[in-house]
Amino acid sequence: MVREHLPWLEVVRLGHRIDRDRRITSHLGLTARALGADGIVLCGDEDPSIIETWKNVAERFGGSFSARYESKPMAYLKSFKRGTKGRPPGIIVHLTMYGEDVSEALPKIRRDRPVALVVGGAKVPGELFGISNHNVAVGNQPHSEVAALAVALSQWHFSVAIESRFEGGSIRVIPSTDGKKVVDDKNTLDS
Ligand code: SAM
Repeated sequence: MVREHLPWLEVVRLGHRIDRDRRITSHLGLTARALGADGIVLCGDEDPSIIETWKNVAERFGGSFSARYESKPMAYLKSFKRGTKGRPPGIIVHLTMYGEDVSEALPKIRRDRPVALVVGGAKVPGELFGISNHNVAVGNQPHSEVAALAVALSQWHFSVAIESRFEGGSIRVIPSTDGKKVVDDKNTLDS
């Protein structure tokens, strides 16, 4: 897993419900850690035991992974996006079945800023769509936040791992179904 070139990436888990989401939220944090996120922020019901579980796994299996609770997620996301003293403005990426396809969206996301990858549980606040820099879908069917996160993280790291091997060139090939599409610094060449 290639992490060296990437800025901070955290998963923000909205709307955790202690009575019904324990297992899936726990798996979400484990998946976030295992697939290369730097941390997770738990929102919704406060649940210290899940945070403890994540910290224990990180301690036993290694690496650094932060886990904490946030009681005001929308205010937190706005400040994440704005940036604070000592932390640059961040990018909010909301995983939602209503978003832009993950393989189209991820390559457009800038890689020089901290990223908050937001997943819902129960219905997410409508405002989230507006404050997010990117609303990203893993297919446009409803499924699971764990599945969506796994695919998104996998593609995020894969594209960096591959692209970082070709830094410094001026020509990029744009994948296309109907011919050659190439971009260089000044011109777009289609044929
Ligand atoms: N009933 C909920 C609603 O109306 O928002 C659906 C919640 S869904 C089980 C939980 C989370 O999984 C969503 O908030 C979203 O983050 C993620 N998710 C589900 N399907 C997705 C998809 N096709 N693409 C991206 N994320 C998805």
